[in-house]
Amino acid sequence: MTDTKPRHAAQSQFPVVGDVLQIGGIALPMLAERVGHTPFFAYDRALLGARVAALRAQLPAGVALHYSVKANPMPALVQHMAGLVDGLDVASGGELKTALDAGMAAARISFAGPGKGDGELAQGVAAGVCINLESERELAAVARISERLGVAARVALRVNPDFELKSSGMKMGGGAKPFGIDAEEVPRLLREVAAMSLDFQGFHIFSGSQSLRGDAIIEAQTRSVELGIRLAGEAPLTVRQLNIGGGFGIPYFPGEQRLDIAPIGAALEGLLARLAAALPQARLALELGRYLVGEAGIYVARVLDRKVSRGEVFLVVDGGMHHHLAASGNLGQIIRKNYPVAVGNRMTAVEPGTASVTGPLCTPLDVLAERMPLAHAQIGDLIVVFQSGAYGPSASPSGFLGHPAALEVLI
Ligand SMILES: *Cc1c(COP(=O)(O)O)cnc(C)c1O
Repeated sequence: MTDTKPRHAAQSQFPVVGDVLQIGGIALPMLAERVGHTPFFAYDRALLGARVAALRAQLPAGVALHYSVKANPMPALVQHMAGLVDGLDVASGGELKTALDAGMAAARISFAGPGKGDGELAQGVAAGVCINLESERELAAVARISERLGVAARVALRVNPDFELKSSGMKMGGGAKPFGIDAEEVPRLLREVAAMSLDFQGFHIFSGSQSLRGDAIIEAQTRSVELGIRLAGEAPLTVRQLNIGGGFGIPYFPGEQRLDIAPIGAALEGLLARLAAALPQARLALELGRYLVGEAGIYVARVLDRKVSRGEVFLVVDGGMHHHLAASGNLGQIIRKNYPVAVGNRMTAVEPGTASVTGPLCTPLDVLAERMPLAHAQIGDLIVVFQSGAYGPSASPSGFLGHPAALEVLI
């Protein structure tokens, strides 16, 4: 039986020709042949470019746009993004190498993340990137490394603000947190920085992730700029950069709507004016991961078996939570919800009832879709998980049961 099913907003990015999903102008089954094995992640470079362009069109020109590499550190993708954004933020020595290899100028790379090792800090100082200091220990280590290498390291203080991004999927600031330096400790550390021969850049304030509420994002951005201005008044140092993080979410689950950027852009106009009046040398930067890349990628796995167990249909596929932990619901979801999933070579039909998509890992946690309306899939069909361009392989326990890693292609 066939009828037309309303497509999740998330799927509208990829055209369907006949019954078949197209990625970068290539029909999905042909792409699977080209990649050579399933499962794989595919990212669409045209969609990446379109997302950055659409965002820039709605943000004031004075706001710098940085890409947070940890959302998707595939080297070819980082290289592509490096040509589109104003800066890259990295969170490990490995990501730092990727960012430098991509040709991004060191002056436009920042290195954040709690628990940077001395070796990684030395790599960052030697490369000349801005180290976002997350603790007093990191400050002392960077000062020692600077002396040893005979350079004045570029540093910023990552502030754990005294507020959080409301209604965000992940709270990264406010209250007691392992990220950043508590705002109330910052004045003391600023005095220490001023007494050292370090090249102070400014502040990094990151209050949360995955928010679909523009008003909450505007509030967090406003408070971040206010906090940056207040902290700058505490030290005789010039603030050259105020990085107010991101937090822009993408819709994953039924009923979620895309974020409306226009009001955020309008509010940023006002914040830029306030910043220019208080700290004329400071550049305002946004740092986004998921929002820039999440919707441009899909995960593809092949149906190995179709089983009916006590009336319920199970499509057993060759991929699962070891490649895509977030889609399995095991990366911080309290109540498991389905990512948008479809049968990529049967896009227009849906069978009555529901089916579950499960992986090969011998654990009931290995689920990619649970009791979802799907087309009647056969063995060999290609299951597609949308919204998979961010926090896919880099946030998954690859190597589970010795299964091979998913390949990645940029189309
Ligand atoms: C993870 C992270 C980001 C990116 O967050 P998204 O939700 O992917 O936009 C930005 N900055 C820092 C410091 C991060 O840790």
